[in-house]
Amino acid sequence: MTPVDTAAVQAQLIERSGRIRSALEHVRHDDQLVHLLKDVDAALERIGSGTYGICDVCHEPIEEEYLRADPLVTVCLEHLSPGEQKTIERDLELAARVQGKLLPMCNTRVYSWEFCYHYEPFGPVGGDYCDLIRPSESGGDMYFFLGDVSGKGVAASLLVSYLHATVRSLLHSEPTLAGLMERVNRLLCETTLSSNFITLAAGRASADGTVEFVNAGHCHPLVVRGGAIRSIETTGLPLGISFGARYRSVTTKLAPGDSIFIYTDGLSEARNSEKEEYSEARISALVARESGVTPEALIGIARRDLSAFSGGSGKFDDLSIMAMRRLSEGT
Ligand SMILES: [Zn+2]
Repeated sequence: MTPVDTAAVQAQLIERSGRIRSALEHVRHDDQLVHLLKDVDAALERIGSGTYGICDVCHEPIEEEYLRADPLVTVCLEHLSPGEQKTIERDLELAARVQGKLLPMCNTRVYSWEFCYHYEPFGPVGGDYCDLIRPSESGGDMYFFLGDVSGKGVAASLLVSYLHATVRSLLHSEPTLAGLMERVNRLLCETTLSSNFITLAAGRASADGTVEFVNAGHCHPLVVRGGAIRSIETTGLPLGISFGARYRSVTTKLAPGDSIFIYTDGLSEARNSEKEEYSEARISALVARESGVTPEALIGIARRDLSAFSGGSGKFDDLSIMAMRRLSEGT
């Protein structure tokens, strides 16, 4: 995420100060407005003196995301009053609940595909995007998406919601997966949120086992086909970087027993106390070794292996894993 642009904040605050002053001329006196004007002018003074964005209590920089959400804050999150902290906690709880509702049904079956995922945000809300779109009543394909918005926390989660809505609304007006990615990419580049970018693995699976992938700069999805493992390399830039970006798709056909494993870098880049990465190689080896189990079991094995590897070093990023397996017809 780009740092807070103090000059832009200053311009906004000057405009805001002017608007409050003219409002005060009309309403004569309003305690709330007077108070707000004082806060706006104090923030402008801090910008002038070079102390803007520094906590009044501990003199450490205030969290950028928090400052961006409210440019008038004078203390860091840790030094808010208990009442203020409660309000923020309540907002985050609500945001987490909204985000939870956007997730697809887990441990489900579509055609002959078994599907499961694990979604674990680093904080109350996450910057990973996970979705499964089932075919319509009249048939058609199933779509699955696993992505990662740069940055973490509330700002990243807002972009996840935006992406969720954009993909779902454009899905049926774009005949190809690559075309869909190109359109979503252009929209992302046009939004003001474009200081972030998104890596995304997108897939379309048919009832007959055909799977098409587009990989926009995401960790390589793994396909286990007839016991052999293949990784789906990048087929285009991460979304939100270049307006004219083009995407290619890769198609493969899976037989009963074959599977797909997709993850975010919260898995591959997790580190242990020796600062070693969990690594793509370790993930590939695990998926190749355990490919006979159900998607739910495979995700469970991967999570246990990760926690054995990282020991007590704790998580550092959002973690998402998606797994699919093709059942034999009629099971
Ligand atoms: Zn502080």
